[in-house]
Amino acid sequence: MSTHMEPAACPQCACADASSTLYDHRRLVLECPACGFSEERTHLDPHATPHLGHGETVVPSDDGALDLVRRTPGYGVVTIVDHVGIGCSTVFTTPPTEQEISTWRADLAHPDIDPERSYLTIYDPATGVRTDVVGVPSQTAW
Ligand SMILES: [Zn+2]
Repeated sequence: MSTHMEPAACPQCACADASSTLYDHRRLVLECPACGFSEERTHLDPHATPHLGHGETVVPSDDGALDLVRRTPGYGVVTIVDHVGIGCSTVFTTPPTEQEISTWRADLAHPDIDPERSYLTIYDPATGVRTDVVGVPSQTAW
């Protein structure tokens, strides 16, 4: 399996921190660490009959065949990294509640957490506004 990753602009929040990863020359995955948006684009065989799932569309590809595209909107991201560099990211797939935000805030304030690499953002697709609640998003956090 071959992969090739490069920086990309996020189609949802327009930041330049997204990354685009090509798997095996036929599956392109774009992920945004700032707002949580993701897009997966799979190149279909010319004679394939696509079966569309939820949130999936088919668009013409550059070579005249078809790409199956699945877009997942993001409502923000929380990334927590400790001082050793071990971390995890959670994408909000629905708008986070005030309660969730305050819980994450408390987790991010823990002394074991590296504040330089940890962050919490909220994205509002309706207004297109991203709010950096804690820290600053980075694609190279961990
Ligand atoms: Zn984004």
